[in-house]
Amino acid sequence: MSISRSLSDLQLEIRNECLAAGRDPESVRLLLATKTVEPARIAEALKAGHRLLGENKVQELKRKFTELEPLQPEWHFIGHLQSNKVKDILPHIQMLHSLDRMSLVKELNRRLQDQGRTLDVLVQVNSSNEASKFGLPPEAVADFVETLKGYPTLKVKGLMTLALFSSDEYRVRECFQKMKRLFEELKGDRFTHVEMKELSMGMSSDYKWAIAEGATLLRVGTKIFGQRPYPDSYYWPEEK
Ligand SMILES: *Cc1c(COP(=O)(O)O)cnc(C)c1O
Repeated sequence: MSISRSLSDLQLEIRNECLAAGRDPESVRLLLATKTVEPARIAEALKAGHRLLGENKVQELKRKFTELEPLQPEWHFIGHLQSNKVKDILPHIQMLHSLDRMSLVKELNRRLQDQGRTLDVLVQVNSSNEASKFGLPPEAVADFVETLKGYPTLKVKGLMTLALFSSDEYRVRECFQKMKRLFEELKGDRFTHVEMKELSMGMSSDYKWAIAEGATLLRVGTKIFGQRPYPDSYYWPEEK
């Protein structure tokens, strides 16, 4: 099936899931996870009217950024970000989904201050415990977000998670529900410095459940571009 056809089918499914969940279809956006996908194939999606893209590796993003610039996509960084790559990534992205530690906060803040600009960020949460070592434990998120008051270059817009990798609907939805509760908690009085808008969760295998549980940004790759040549452990390595 062509990429533009897969995209329009998925958009329709997302719309239907929103309606089934009693949600406004406009409240959910689709971000295409383009790791390993060649620019020519990504371009098909962009020419079909798609705009939001996400990459996991800095070098891969830089290469695609240049090639696809004429089509004016909006790039988000959704992978694990090493502090020594911050400088390289900043000119290319509009949002970082994977803010997960103070050392990264400090490096981002330093570079952004130098450049006199701000960056939209999502705090990555480890909602599944055993499935991924990345992201803050849910119980650490409120204090982390409070600390970000001291770093006005970082505009917190919401939360991101990779749910449990499982076909067990109940357990996957539990991850999403945990995220939604946290998201609502962070709209409280203690956090007037953040604007909780985005809940980035749901991938090819679980986006329908994520919609039902309140996702606003879905990150989908395989369902549009097909299976990837490398296992995802290459992109989410075990060691930090
Ligand atoms: C690869 C990836 C996705 C998309 O996964 P699919 O299963 O291919 O839809 C979403 N989020 C992140 C962070 C990813 O690395």
